[in-house]
Amino acid sequence: MGLRVSVDPDECVGHGRCYEIAPDVFRADDHGHSVVISAHVADALADVARQAAAACPEEAIAISER
Ligand code: SF4
Repeated sequence: MGLRVSVDPDECVGHGRCYEIAPDVFRADDHGHSVVISAHVADALADVARQAAAACPEEAIAISER
């Protein structure tokens, strides 16, 4: 099943919580803002991706089932 994940670059301010919680899903760009490693997240990473999205204070991470 898996998830589709995206980060809104206009909302992300670079707290880094997402890529600390889910380093296999998100990474930092040169400015510390979050970049999705792969828009399609495998089942094994779905829970941690959801945790990262919930931890984002800016609500910059969108997740949908695919
Ligand atoms: S936690 Fe949210 S604001 Fe912080 S880097 Fe991740 S997406 Fe950006």
